[in-house]
Amino acid sequence: MIRAAVMRQPGLPLEIEDVELEKPRAGELSVRIEAAGVCHSDYHYMKGDITCPLPIVLGHEGAGIVEELGPDTSGAIAVGSRVAFMWRPRCGKCAACVSGNPVLCASGRLQATTGGLLDGTSRLRLGGQKLHHFLGVSCFAERVVVSERSVVPVPDGVPAEIAAITGCAVVTGVGAVLNVVERAAGRPIVIFGAGGVGLCSVMGARLIGADPIVAIDIDEDKLQLARRFGATHTVNAGSGDAVEQVKAIAPAGVDWAIEAIGQPATMRQAFESLAPAGTVIALGLARVGATFEVPINPLVQGQKRIVGSLYGSANPLIDLPKIFGLYLSGRLPLDDLVGERFTLEAVNEAYARLVAGGLGRSVLVP
Ligand SMILES: [Zn+2]
Ligand SMILES: [Zn+2]
Repeated sequence: MIRAAVMRQPGLPLEIEDVELEKPRAGELSVRIEAAGVCHSDYHYMKGDITCPLPIVLGHEGAGIVEELGPDTSGAIAVGSRVAFMWRPRCGKCAACVSGNPVLCASGRLQATTGGLLDGTSRLRLGGQKLHHFLGVSCFAERVVVSERSVVPVPDGVPAEIAAITGCAVVTGVGAVLNVVERAAGRPIVIFGAGGVGLCSVMGARLIGADPIVAIDIDEDKLQLARRFGATHTVNAGSGDAVEQVKAIAPAGVDWAIEAIGQPATMRQAFESLAPAGTVIALGLARVGATFEVPINPLVQGQKRIVGSLYGSANPLIDLPKIFGLYLSGRLPLDDLVGERFTLEAVNEAYARLVAGGLGRSVLVP
């Protein structure tokens, strides 16, 4: 039996339950959780903005120590290894994997729709009833069983909390800059939203030498944190038109606008902030079916682009070690990104704090 945070239906608080966790099967590992990130994406599922099979154990960014190997593992991971989770596994065989874009691997979709591991089945039960895995991870728990294709080794010197948030917020925000933005040194970039992901994009923008780096939010404390991470300018969208304020800093508009919120109004503002030939990079998830309007003529006449970026458009087995390396060499100040720590039992409180505007990325420490 393990303790885990179970969602029975959207709109209700998560319940901490004693859950049965089966042993790992072929190609799987059992991992003791050391830290789990409090990500806004789980909150979309808690509210019902996006649906998933129920009941389910939530949590998708985490890190821990491997306790047991199932049969037929590859040998790359040993008992005692420190690992971080990837909520997008890779089969290594499909067109997306072979072409170097494993974030779009078909197995990610399979895990999301079945609520199982890579074979579609679950290792979790509650009172004899099947419980689902969330994106193959379910780390709001003391322990998990995951596919070895869902983990990446964590080097010594990277704390568990940093490893946990790197598997989602950091790779999403930093990865979008490193993998999608091009030729931005000395060129303007704007980042909408100074939550965990947006702040990571600010760090990434500093890393590649973008200038100016404009961070936008409605919370002054978050904007102050953005300045610490490399924003050269901040815009409080609560005190006047955000686009006008951006144009006061970058009169011709920006080459790159990162939208890390996932709302129609800020998507539109991101588009309107663009210079000719500029690109909006959308990172934030919205409720299912959400749309925003794009004015056709400025799109065509300005040769503008709008692109989506999932999981930082990363190749996680390459990009996660890269990010760990940048952290260890002092180029990514991720320690300052970690916000409040909560116990697993306080998971609902942690989400209440997130919604109320808590700073940085909070973590659960079981
Ligand atoms: Zn996440
Ligand atoms: Zn694949």
